[in-house]
Amino acid sequence: MSEADRLIALTEQDLAIARAEKTLEELPEKLAVLQLRKRLKEIETVRDRAKAYCRKAESMVARSNDEASAVQAKIDTEQEKVISGEVTNPKELQNLTRELDALKRRKDVIEFEELGLMEKAEVGAAQLAKVEEALAEGAAKEAQLIADFKAKGGELQADIAKMKKAREGIRAHMSERTLARYDSLKGSKHGIAVGVLSDGLCSACRTQIPAAEAQAILGGPEIAECPNCKRILVVRADGQ
Ligand SMILES: [Zn+2]
Repeated sequence: MSEADRLIALTEQDLAIARAEKTLEELPEKLAVLQLRKRLKEIETVRDRAKAYCRKAESMVARSNDEASAVQAKIDTEQEKVISGEVTNPKELQNLTRELDALKRRKDVIEFEELGLMEKAEVGAAQLAKVEEALAEGAAKEAQLIADFKAKGGELQADIAKMKKAREGIRAHMSERTLARYDSLKGSKHGIAVGVLSDGLCSACRTQIPAAEAQAILGGPEIAECPNCKRILVVRADGQ
């Protein structure tokens, strides 16, 4: 393997590493976890609202219940008065009966309203159960996505480590001077330090090199410089 071959191999290895690192950064599982977490936050807000609704509905049912009990207690008291025979005055008895009727009507109204409130509470509880279920499903999905991310990410990280080792293997056989030039260009030229001269074109900057200049480069050393982008230009004897 010539120094020029190693330059090309090193470039390919560095590009592969950069690609793998980008893939790791942009794994769909990572994005999916972030999106899911956002969605779960929204569902949690709905859950909190549903909980508040249920609490309110239940307290209204309880209040209605208390009211119905209080009215029933009054009915019982009045009824006892009627049954006991203590009230003998017909006018008073008529008043008592009227009052009892009113109390019974009042109780009917309360009980009817309570039915409505209970229905509301039930609907609220069912809604809350659904939301809780969605949250539990979301949490399970999140755990799965995190596991997938770790598995895929772990594989990628292992690949990257392997590629970095291979890169060190290539670099170990290269001259310090070439490496210094390569590293400096890689840093300043968007990660690509090497182009190959092919059909009079630099493969890195895709610029046609004037024929006479290309001819002169072809006649020179295997490692040249692109007159346009100033990257290292690998020159093959056959121009390919
Ligand atoms: Zn170039």
